[in-house]
Amino acid sequence: MYKIVSIPGDGIGPEVVAGAVAVLKQLSTKHGFEIVIEEHPFGGASYDLHGEMLTEKTLEACKQCDAVLLGAVGGPKWEKLPHEHKPEAALLNIRKELELFANLRPAKVYDALLEASSLKAEVIRGTDFLVFRELTGGIYFGQPRGYDDNRGWNTMVYERYEVERIARLAFEAAQKRDKKVISIDKANVLEVSQFWRNVVHEVHKDYPDVELSDMYVDNAAMQIVRNPKQFDVIVTSNLFGDILSDIAGMITGSLGMLPSASIGKHHALYEPIHGSAPDIAGQGKANPIATIASVAMMFEYSFCMPDIATEIYQAIEATLASGLRTADIANPGELSVSTTEMTEAIVRHLGA
Ligand code: NAD
Repeated sequence: MYKIVSIPGDGIGPEVVAGAVAVLKQLSTKHGFEIVIEEHPFGGASYDLHGEMLTEKTLEACKQCDAVLLGAVGGPKWEKLPHEHKPEAALLNIRKELELFANLRPAKVYDALLEASSLKAEVIRGTDFLVFRELTGGIYFGQPRGYDDNRGWNTMVYERYEVERIARLAFEAAQKRDKKVISIDKANVLEVSQFWRNVVHEVHKDYPDVELSDMYVDNAAMQIVRNPKQFDVIVTSNLFGDILSDIAGMITGSLGMLPSASIGKHHALYEPIHGSAPDIAGQGKANPIATIASVAMMFEYSFCMPDIATEIYQAIEATLASGLRTADIANPGELSVSTTEMTEAIVRHLGA
């Protein structure tokens, strides 16, 4: 039995999470495993009900389950609240409370959407790599930090255990893929990067079947756009990962297609990378694929059922190949389908 907490959140969150839940139910019926889904409020929806974005009850439920499925949070209604009450603060808070130290973002190109990328089809065809971004350390959290009238300062610091644990995750993922890890840093300029590099190489000794190489971050930004097929698994620090995972995501097409996983020692949270899209909320226009693909990641990383993940990706691929498009991925002038129609087609392709 798998216990999943779903926190649909705001804007299109509830619409895309409904799609993911439909997929989970279909898989449960098809394969005969039991899935219990418990829904909790989060973000603006929670603020309106309880006066806080993240209640103790929601947080406790997230700590007690096998995986968390999140839609998106935020919207104009809550933008003027003080910083500590904003949805963004709640997101940081939930990641911190669940100790989610690794953020995983796949950059996978679907054949049916080759034309949706800003890059040429021949450059991106076959691209399939995974970025591991360290999420709870580095310059975003380092002390001292601050600014005055004449100076601003932040500190980039990594502890050995922080580098070791994400390096291990990356090597383990590579063992199940093409067995190639590229660690990205700026070791020619930053001591903290030289330290990062040293530790990654030490950890590598435990994974002799995986090939490890290093790349400077400026070169990596160029290489992802020049020849994305060369990558299998990328591992990098918080700041570099923030930037590189966005580049990696966008070469594959629309925001509505991109899933993510945030993983810690005891907990994991799966969510699309897009926000709550207030401009299309409640209109049935949202693309549910990013959230449905996040469920695929859940089966791969939390439930250790890669075959089910493959099934989900194949159902998405088949649905796209049949020509169905939500508005965000449709060509100009092309007819598009609703969130529900896209979901139903993917569920149909999963089979009974
Ligand atoms: P956004 O990702 O919500 O939307 C950007 C654009 O992409 C919009 O035009 C939107 O319609 C489109 N889009 C996004 N997801 C889509 C989908 N699944 N299908 C079709 N089109 C889609 O980013 P934004 O507009 O900058 O932010 C809106 C709100 O979301 C803000 O309140 C922001 O703080 C919040 N946000 C939340 C998260 C999160 O919950 N993790 C992430 C980013 C932004």
